[in-house]
Amino acid sequence: MSPSTILDPSSAIEVLNKDYKRDGLDARTLLDSEKHGGLTYNDFLVLPGYIGFAASDVKLESKITKRISLNLPLVSSPMDTVTETDMAIHMALLGGVGFIHHNCSAEEQAEMVRKVKRYENGFILDPVVMSPTNTVADVRKVKEEQGFAGIPVTVDGKLHSKLVGIVTMRDIQFHPDNSSPLSEVMTSENLITAPKGVTLAEANEILRQSKKGKLPIVDEQGNLTALLSRSDLMKNLHFPLASKVPHSKQLLCGAAIGTRPDDKERLKKLVEAGLDVVIMDSSQGNSMYQIEMLRWIKTTFPNLDVIAGNVVTREQAANLIANGADGLRIGMGSGSACITQEVMAVGRPQATAIFSICQFAKRFGVPCIADGGIQNVGHIVKAIALGASTVMMGGLLAGTTESPGQYFLSSEGKLVKAYRGMGSIDAMESQKSSNNAATGRYFSEGDKIRVAQGVSGSVLDRGSVTKFVPYLQAGIQHSLQDIGVTSVELLQKGVSEGTVRFEIRTVSAQAEGNVHGLHEFNKKLYA
Ligand code: IMP
Repeated sequence: MSPSTILDPSSAIEVLNKDYKRDGLDARTLLDSEKHGGLTYNDFLVLPGYIGFAASDVKLESKITKRISLNLPLVSSPMDTVTETDMAIHMALLGGVGFIHHNCSAEEQAEMVRKVKRYENGFILDPVVMSPTNTVADVRKVKEEQGFAGIPVTVDGKLHSKLVGIVTMRDIQFHPDNSSPLSEVMTSENLITAPKGVTLAEANEILRQSKKGKLPIVDEQGNLTALLSRSDLMKNLHFPLASKVPHSKQLLCGAAIGTRPDDKERLKKLVEAGLDVVIMDSSQGNSMYQIEMLRWIKTTFPNLDVIAGNVVTREQAANLIANGADGLRIGMGSGSACITQEVMAVGRPQATAIFSICQFAKRFGVPCIADGGIQNVGHIVKAIALGASTVMMGGLLAGTTESPGQYFLSSEGKLVKAYRGMGSIDAMESQKSSNNAATGRYFSEGDKIRVAQGVSGSVLDRGSVTKFVPYLQAGIQHSLQDIGVTSVELLQKGVSEGTVRFEIRTVSAQAEGNVHGLHEFNKKLYA
């Protein structure tokens, strides 16, 4: 038949299967580094498949370690400008998990873990408390700095002491004397409280009926144990994907440690505080220090899941898998605040590293985290397509309300937050001044000169993770819908079997795939 003959359209699929090989490349051909060199996220695209379902039907459940699964494959990095208590709580509420950094004392880190574990959705377990001798000025200061003025008052100004009153904005708004003690202005008669053990729904009902903004929770002796806030309640009631320890109300919590002898004591404190999963924080994880620590953790805390790394080659990964790693963290030099590849000449392009290790680790049932270089939803999907079970983010989350630190105005007048690599001189200096071991990830005690592997800078305000993470989630679901798969598992199966296809992206293809030719534009990512 001559090629110009018009064929019967109803035979299109048959002709396609008979006369053509599959469009695009399979992952193995795409990532053949002998042919193309190492690739990273922007160097390729996933080809679309068939949409036969709604995006909201796409399931994103995935494993982070051999034993722990998450409903959302997203985790926050153990960096001191990314993950402390608030980030860890919110990442877990939203279905991911946060890893609390270790650039602080062991006690401070354990306290952060404890707060995540004790957190109960809607209940404030460490409220600001004042005593009757505090002044109106103290309340005004809290209002100014933290934005609220409903403060419980106990006999000595501490939690777990007898509740004697509550002070609200209404009590002090028109009060002329800033130095008046709270005993003169607070409400102490007919206080509305709820007993310890009250459920969120019951407490909500009490708040609704009383029309109050704050509800103190007290024990049988009348001691204050927690506080419920109407505004938090409105925000926090529904987190259906929350990552919880099975059969308990406790949120999952991760934390990082180093590999020095002191870190064993640190880990004991973290485990006492309720830690669920530990990550060993090294930029080059294939070391005698890490293997010794891994073995020690596996014998001392057999029920604690351990994530080892970082690694970028199969050989590194094999060593850690053989010594008991329950998960691996992949990435060297791909982080947004990282200069490792430039300074150390060591590292690997991230897409190649992920594919190479994940195919191997999968054979031993060891899930992998793609860590570093995630700038958008597309990068998350590509990391998962290449075999990563979860994705770790630093810079992308550092500008959210839940990251540590305050917003400030940049030199161009934009609202920003500080973000720094843990191997930046700034982070290493803060380690020296606070005398803790965290940035041992990047230097050793005997080092006379600190060689930076990271930079410090700032990132733009991204609002709250309670909006941003659901945006990432919806974005991933839409992407998987375009690819034509209904779950992370099916995406990875399709990639292994060669039914999910890829295309290399030339430099001009990358330019074509970004906004171009517009005089001006506004890149608003979600609404
Ligand atoms: P990001 O999400 O691209 O900002 O990358 C975050 C990741 O960068 C972290 O999870 C670490 O693996 C890595 N990282 C953090 N600090 C440094 C550093 O100072 N040098 C190199 N890599 C770093």
